[in-house]
Amino acid sequence: MKERLYELKRQALEQIGQARDLKALNDVRVAYLGKKGPITEVLRGMGALPPEERPKIGALANEVREAIQQALEAKQAKLEQEEVERKLAAEAIDVTLPGRPVKLGNPHPLTRVIEEIEDLFIGMGYTVAEGPEVETDYYNFEALNLPKGHPARDMQDSFYITEEILLRTHTSPMQARTMEKHRGRGPVKIICPGKVYRRDTDDATHSHQFTQIEGLVVDRNIRMSDLKGTLREFARKLFGEGRDIRFRPSFFPFTEPSVEVDVSCFRCEGQGCGVCKGTGWIEILGAGMVHPNVLEMAGFDSKTYTGFAFGMGPERIAMLKYGIDDIRHFYQNDLRFLRQFLRV
Ligand SMILES: [Zn+2]
Repeated sequence: MKERLYELKRQALEQIGQARDLKALNDVRVAYLGKKGPITEVLRGMGALPPEERPKIGALANEVREAIQQALEAKQAKLEQEEVERKLAAEAIDVTLPGRPVKLGNPHPLTRVIEEIEDLFIGMGYTVAEGPEVETDYYNFEALNLPKGHPARDMQDSFYITEEILLRTHTSPMQARTMEKHRGRGPVKIICPGKVYRRDTDDATHSHQFTQIEGLVVDRNIRMSDLKGTLREFARKLFGEGRDIRFRPSFFPFTEPSVEVDVSCFRCEGQGCGVCKGTGWIEILGAGMVHPNVLEMAGFDSKTYTGFAFGMGPERIAMLKYGIDDIRHFYQNDLRFLRQFLRV
């Protein structure tokens, strides 16, 4: 019986030594130490031994079992360590490999123009104010001296959500909203960029959704010459030194007097070309002195305060600046178009 136990020990240790993985090792464990294993069998057969032999064989059996157990544990630890090392080796990252090129995005040309204009005005002491695109009839029209039924509303038909709520047709509602916040005290000096909506049929120069930048200055002693100086500075920074501007009379319900503002053509220096349609001047924005009714409705005393306002379309400015011939290019997400502005 002793021989049998020594033989079992030898066999078991040999098989443990040969086990290549954890599964094989477990098979060895079950084969030798399991309930139906040979050691259990030996112990069961002890009844046939003389009583004085039993403790010796029992002790030896336990010793063999212990030895196999220890060998199993040691081998298991070794296999697990190897497993970890194999995984680490398989998942290693070769930091010397060249990287895969990442496609870089870039700001949309409109975003670029809007940010450029924002920077210009921030440099002149303006703050940027943004307002809601879903607007009330009151702020979009009435507070801008466009009461219900005013004929000038026809030029700005909108998308109505209810009778009183609509998608704003211009960024001008921020005039009243901002002035109300100032509670009748100047100075107010803001620009307001954002999306606006009109029920226009889309074509090369019209879109039902486009962007605007509104400017508003209200303070004591603001004069039309301040407006002109501001816009000339703006035109020179945006289109180059040497640009001049001119005012032409116009009409907006919320300004009085109102003007269209032209900049001298940056392409032909005023000689006349395709960009300026032979006139030497390019229309870039509308402006005027804030109408006293607009000041009063927003809580400003029009005898103490005056102001000017202007509104421009970043699309038009981007089209002029970059020679883009169709406004729809801005909204179609065509990468062939957008990629041209990668390093503009
Ligand atoms: Zn020209």
